[in-house]
Amino acid sequence: QKALLEKLTARRTVSNDGKETLLAANISSDDEVEFAIQHGAEAIGLFRTEFLYMSTDKLPTEEEQFTIYKHILELMNNRPVTIRTADIGGDKPVPYLQAPKQANPFLGYRAIRLSLDREDIFRTQLRALIRASAFGKLSIMFPMIATIEELRQAKTVFNEEMAKVKSDGLKVGEIKIGIMVEVPSTVILADQFAAEVDFMSIGTNDLIQYTMAADRGNEKVAYLYQPHNPAVLRMIKMVIDACHRNSIPACMCGEMAGDQLAIPILLGMELDEYSMSARQILPSRSLISTLDSDKMVALANRTLSFYSTSSEVVKDVKRTLYDDH
Ligand code: PEP
Ligand code: MG
Repeated sequence: QKALLEKLTARRTVSNDGKETLLAANISSDDEVEFAIQHGAEAIGLFRTEFLYMSTDKLPTEEEQFTIYKHILELMNNRPVTIRTADIGGDKPVPYLQAPKQANPFLGYRAIRLSLDREDIFRTQLRALIRASAFGKLSIMFPMIATIEELRQAKTVFNEEMAKVKSDGLKVGEIKIGIMVEVPSTVILADQFAAEVDFMSIGTNDLIQYTMAADRGNEKVAYLYQPHNPAVLRMIKMVIDACHRNSIPACMCGEMAGDQLAIPILLGMELDEYSMSARQILPSRSLISTLDSDKMVALANRTLSFYSTSSEVVKDVKRTLYDDH
């Protein structure tokens, strides 16, 4: 079993019938890149930069950030790297940047809301990212986008910083711009968003929380935290289809992307890129190599059409995985 997984390390990710997908790693520091590569990551699908802000009691400088982003891009050696702008707040509080008390921190002043309010901090981060782009294949994504105006505003700030870096005579690479889909309003307007970005990445950790109105960290309501709920699955399908109608890739970087009982459905929905913790990559690649995409499309269609509960969906996935072959 271990030898089989090791053989999968350097391989691409291909289903039993030859359909290709991409398996990427989620990281929180540049120290984790080597580990991700050893575990077969084809890309970095999510670098959670907020940890740069949480690990000290002052803001990271442009130089400090530039060094870290450049390091990650160089280690990845021209494989794709997606870096998320600071997703501060909610489960990742930064006391020196936020009001001491918010009644509903998950619904409050956080993520892109904080970045657009504190443009000074946002511009510093974007400038560091733009400078680092010369050293690899960089995508930037914005967290917790809820409205088109937020996206447009973030892009305007990005374009202004891009123009400044260029007029300073610095080298820049081609940068793709995307959003995280974590808020139901963004799912509902997925077509409109897809027309204005280069990719979308579904953040299921938050999307499930906001769809089910169940705090992702509260054990008392953990039973409502249901990745396989048909309501959640339909939302995911809406996003994937909107991406494909607009000819952009549909990615996922929440925990669900590495869930062995979700991957068959996601493959059937034609998700393009799965980003997960590094340890899940080889088991996921191994699982995908046994799946036939036609059967998974049929499974996905059943989950979208026939079922009204999470347990019915899970039962069908297990039957499809373990009885059919
Ligand atoms: C998510 O919400 O699914 C996600 C990937 O972001 P985070 O877990 O950092 O909130
Ligand atoms: Mg999130």
